[in-house]
Amino acid sequence: MTVTLGPQTRRDDRIAPFLAHATTTSPKRLLIDGEWVPAASGETFGAHDPATGEHLAELARAGQPDVDDAVASARRALTSPAWKGMTPAERAALLWRIADLLEQDLDELAQLETLDQGKAWGTARFGEVPAAIAQFRYYSGFATKILGTTIPTSLRRQGPDRQVFAYTTREPVGVVAAIVPWNSPLLMAAMKVAPALAAGCTVILKPAENTSLTAVRLGEILVEAGLPAGVVNVVTGFGAEAGQALADHPGVDKVAFTGSTAVGKRLVAASTGNLKRLTLELGGKSPVIVMPDADLDRTVPGVAAGIFDNGGQVCVAGSRVYAHRDVYEELVDRLAAHSRGLSLGHGLAEGTDLGPLVSRVQADRVDTFVREAESEGVDVVAGGVQDGELGTFYRPTVLTGATQGMRIMQEEVFGPVVTVTPFDDLDEVLAWANDSVYGLAASVWTEGLSNAHRVSEGIDSGTVWINCHSYFGPELPKGGHRESGWGYENGANGLENYLETKTVVAVY
Ligand code: NAD
Repeated sequence: MTVTLGPQTRRDDRIAPFLAHATTTSPKRLLIDGEWVPAASGETFGAHDPATGEHLAELARAGQPDVDDAVASARRALTSPAWKGMTPAERAALLWRIADLLEQDLDELAQLETLDQGKAWGTARFGEVPAAIAQFRYYSGFATKILGTTIPTSLRRQGPDRQVFAYTTREPVGVVAAIVPWNSPLLMAAMKVAPALAAGCTVILKPAENTSLTAVRLGEILVEAGLPAGVVNVVTGFGAEAGQALADHPGVDKVAFTGSTAVGKRLVAASTGNLKRLTLELGGKSPVIVMPDADLDRTVPGVAAGIFDNGGQVCVAGSRVYAHRDVYEELVDRLAAHSRGLSLGHGLAEGTDLGPLVSRVQADRVDTFVREAESEGVDVVAGGVQDGELGTFYRPTVLTGATQGMRIMQEEVFGPVVTVTPFDDLDEVLAWANDSVYGLAASVWTEGLSNAHRVSEGIDSGTVWINCHSYFGPELPKGGHRESGWGYENGANGLENYLETKTVVAVY
């Protein structure tokens, strides 16, 4: 069986101008100091539609000299009157204006994201792009509410007739390198740029090399919104070049990173030069626990969405399902039937549930995991097939018979592949769920209050969902325990990542 790409593979009425040239010209350039400039080397690289292989655009390939320029520009902007002199209310209005402009171009941004990354149109149009916009609206409100404290102190060193007044102020952490992955490019960028701007920081945004288009478009929108030059710079390029140059750069005060645990560890090493602040949103292997009292009519589609949405290329993807033995067989049958009913096709085609994975390399990687599991005796109940002319599609896959020690149970596949394992009691399943280097997210499916609370208390992860999976909002802190990361994005925690504290002590 091969993937049908459908008659309507493009809805390019709105994206055509951007892809053709738009304000950035073709090839796309780097946004540095408010200007669109080519890479110093003149080098470019291509953006391709993973469903068809179609060449979408050429992008500037940033290297060390471009990163140096971007960092210098962000440092200048940090103390420029145009940015530092802006009142909190003006900053709030600017963030709101950015959200308005993004909303105006919602369809275009969703089309770009779908073409560039491969996700289904509905995921981009009704999920990720609105969620990115919500980040700017949410953090707009924080810009006017960044507060210090006054501190009653007992210090009286200059005698009883001298008083001491002490207070704290909050200041921007400085120049931020925002390095984001390819699975949800615009949303991941917004989750960093919005709180950083609310805090008064300046930013160099580096999108992933295979999904850079919405970052460039975001750059255009930021310029249009009136963001002063240099406050946000966009450098497209490769991780080992532009990314590493940012991570090593002494002019960068903080790296806000979302990506793999392996690269996250490299960034920790790179940060030691100038002790950069680091937030790391890394990988996961999220357990999904189905209790015997779960309502399977709600659970099956919920569990399926938790692993198959965006082709499983989601950090919190519920890739390890543990089902109580009482419901195990029914759950496996229904989940397999559900997954066989999902349609693969071009993300922009009507009726597509799953688009391609981001690249052939990623689809090959997913297939390697499945074939290895199969060779170890795991049953492929549904899917397990790489598809499409380019081999970039992967059928939603349900595996049974995997055991805890196998790679398929321990490593992040980042594809539409789920294992289902039976369990007999709560202690057993909690031990299995926590038997992972990751601790990003988990879900429990049950109609019982006690089960829900016992599982959420017993799981060691940054988020636990009850009767849902992958529910996010800008107000909900999101982060990982153990090797899933450092720090939390979203909510008040998300703003803290971009602030330093200064204590002022005055004798009078
Ligand atoms: P990746 O780590 O390969 O790349 C992420 C970003 O880092 C890209 O922009 C890349 O160019 C850059 N990079 C690569 N090497 C670098 C280096 N040496 N120095 C600096 N930058 C470098 O991740 P990916 O494959 O793009 O994304 C998938 C990963 O992201 C998965 O592990 C997934 O779980 C994780 N992720 C985590 C979250 C979360 O919130 N925890 C969200 C989304 C994705």
